[in-house]
Amino acid sequence: MAKVTFNDDLCKGCGLCVSACPKKIIIIAKNKINAKGHSPAEVTNQEQCIGCAFCATMCPDCVITVEK
Ligand code: SF4
Ligand code: SF4
Repeated sequence: MAKVTFNDDLCKGCGLCVSACPKKIIIIAKNKINAKGHSPAEVTNQEQCIGCAFCATMCPDCVITVEK
């Protein structure tokens, strides 16, 4: 199973990864604020991740790591 991790404090909450995910399993967390004052992205349903890494490719700030 693929594993997606976010370096939360680097995220600016731009939402590009949310749009890029074909499985629609990334959201912008509503109940979290990171060190930069943004709501960071997170994965809602890790089991559904197919490891395509579209999210990581799209992220302008290299926040996302995808491991297979
Ligand atoms: S690797 Fe693909 S399926 Fe998994 S969270 Fe990123 S965009 Fe979505
Ligand atoms: S694309 Fe990167 S910076 Fe933008 S919300 Fe996703 S993880 Fe955060």
